Amino acid sequence: MYRIIKVLLKIFPRPLLIKMSLIVHKFVAFFMRGNKVSCPICEGNFRKFLPYGYVKKRDNALCPGCLSLERHRLLWLFLKEHTNFFNAEELKVLHIAPEQCFIGRFKKMKNLDYTTGDLESPIVDVKMDVCDIPFEDEAFDVVICNHVLEHVNDDNIAMREFYRVMKNDGMGIFQVPLNIKSETTDEDSTITDRAERERRFGQYDHVRYYGMDYFDRLKSVGFTINNNAKQYLSNMCVNDLERKGIILEDILPIVKK
Ligand SMILES: [Zn+2]
Repeated sequence: MYRIIKVLLKIFPRPLLIKMSLIVHKFVAFFMRGNKVSCPICEGNFRKFLPYGYVKKRDNALCPGCLSLERHRLLWLFLKEHTNFFNAEELKVLHIAPEQCFIGRFKKMKNLDYTTGDLESPIVDVKMDVCDIPFEDEAFDVVICNHVLEHVNDDNIAMREFYRVMKNDGMGIFQVPLNIKSETTDEDSTITDRAERERRFGQYDHVRYYGMDYFDRLKSVGFTINNNAKQYLSNMCVNDLERKGIILEDILPIVKK
């Protein structure tokens, strides 16, 4: 199964993959039914999560029910348990590059005034560049932009834009691939070779691999780091992590303005 996923990822463009996956995964989910793992997002119970990974394979990663990955399930749990995202009266939300496993669910939530944006995707509300967000200052209570900044040449401009469009006291969720073993970000804008980018930054279209100084970059534009989110997993038991398919080393970059 993993080989098939890996080949598909390399051959087909992402929008087509998304359409194909929506059809195929319903069948896969049916055949994967079981009670070893449980997805907090789609609430499906399966024999296991599917393996996934662009360069390196991770077992127990992709939910056959909603196509969520470990980081999506982690974020969902944190939002449910530690924020007012699901029960605040009204939140204005900007979700950039929205994930398949979230978009339909967030759209249905009555308490969210929900806007999606992306540079290329045909399914979003607003076509937009994160370095030039077409909204006024302090327009949103929540800005979500996961796994985008590692693609952006000048991430400082994007971070300042996120800060600008967020209301005071608003929440930002900015997940990126994070090398927790490195204090500093590995970045070199002269590298444009796809293979070299993949080797150094983890994917052919990434321009850096963030180290733990990612949080300093967020702070430098004015954000405050939510340390509860950063350390969220330290209190979760290993069995629970395995059952929900979550990686213990994962860190949630959630900030406040
Ligand atoms: Zn799921």
